[in-house]
Amino acid sequence: MIIKPRIKGFVCITSHPSGCFANVREQAQYAGENKVSHDNRPKRVLVIGSSTGYGLSSRISAAFSCGADTLGVYFERPPTEERTASAGFYNSSAFCKLARDAGMKAEDINGDAFSDSVKNEVIQKAKEFGGSFDLVIYSLASPRRTDPKDGSNYRACLKPIGAIYKNKTLDTDKKLVKEVTIDPATEDEIFQTEKVMGGEDWEAWTDALLDANLLSSDCLNLAYSYIGPQVTTPIYRNGTIGRAKLHLENTAARLTEKMRNAGSGGAYVSVNKALVTQASSAIPVVPLYVSILYKIMQEIGTHEGCIEQTCRLFKDRLYGETDIPVDEENRIRLDDLEMDPVVQQRIVEIWPSVVTENLLELTDFALYQKEFLKLFGFGRSDIDYNLESDPFNPF
Ligand code: NAD
Repeated sequence: MIIKPRIKGFVCITSHPSGCFANVREQAQYAGENKVSHDNRPKRVLVIGSSTGYGLSSRISAAFSCGADTLGVYFERPPTEERTASAGFYNSSAFCKLARDAGMKAEDINGDAFSDSVKNEVIQKAKEFGGSFDLVIYSLASPRRTDPKDGSNYRACLKPIGAIYKNKTLDTDKKLVKEVTIDPATEDEIFQTEKVMGGEDWEAWTDALLDANLLSSDCLNLAYSYIGPQVTTPIYRNGTIGRAKLHLENTAARLTEKMRNAGSGGAYVSVNKALVTQASSAIPVVPLYVSILYKIMQEIGTHEGCIEQTCRLFKDRLYGETDIPVDEENRIRLDDLEMDPVVQQRIVEIWPSVVTENLLELTDFALYQKEFLKLFGFGRSDIDYNLESDPFNPF
């Protein structure tokens, strides 16, 4: 099969196996060059949401910076006769091959992380895998969740709370800067978004792992959050998704208490940088903000991608020379370089002037597009996309 990108809105419905492999190999190489030397580095790591974006890079850092065995959980589409697998499926196969070739254990569970059956499967596999985890990373981004307690279905939405939101946004398909108007969420939409992206399922995972005695005495249990700039505050931090993130952040304190009572380590939320991932490209206004941010941070020399972020998380935050540095809300701040006042001041200055005609001049939309295609294994100069690929036996 000759595989080309087929973009529909903010997703690409095809993915290129060799391109995905090359992306994972590149990240593994970076992680290998940024080893964690601290004695306390993790040896057995569970990553929930391990196939793309922050979860994938976290798993790569755990394996290639720390030498850890990893168990990955994700929800990805395998290939069929007509269709390639999803990028996360190929990423995960690539990761397992590279990790095993380097002498580490790597096991995957492809299924719904919100379900009890996948939690039970992880517990079963963990026992075969060698025992308790000393790091758990919860990196799910999902538009929906079925609560296993009663089978109810919940849908997340990206809406402001309390007032209509009007701002400019970027139609990434048509390369148009245009205005977007989003009505405020109802109470039910706020509740449902919290059910999907809040801390309830993270807590269910923690309870299940504690019950099975699978968290080691110094285990760290980490989830990811985002705060972001003034321009996205009404739609992100003060919107439905921000409400869910607040719930997630508040859950951390309770999980720490439960873990300490059980003789385990503690739970943290790490606030990460805005980056192009499958999840973030679906959020209104974010692609425009990210395109401006990339330009500014590259000019200043502080730009990072997922792997640079997670390697810094492991090296300087989780397993550095000092106690884990946190802000006044007990959160790890990996978004420090994004939130640098110099960067944010320049965003505030550029934002009002961006229009379709000067998009390429005032932003790095070209890099945004390149990174977007790369998520699906496309746009790499070292891959010949005119050659046949086997979607079933890709590497
Ligand atoms: P992503 O879309 O790249 O990854 C999501 C992961 O979740 C994938 O591995 C996917 O397979 C998995 N997943 C989704 N639904 C699942 C299910 N039902 N069962 C099992 N696995 C499932 O997303 P991302 O951007 O890397 O986001 C990960 C976390 O990082 C989120 O909490 C997000 O809010 C946070 N974060 C993202 C950014 C950003 O800019 N991308 C910034 C800060 C924080």
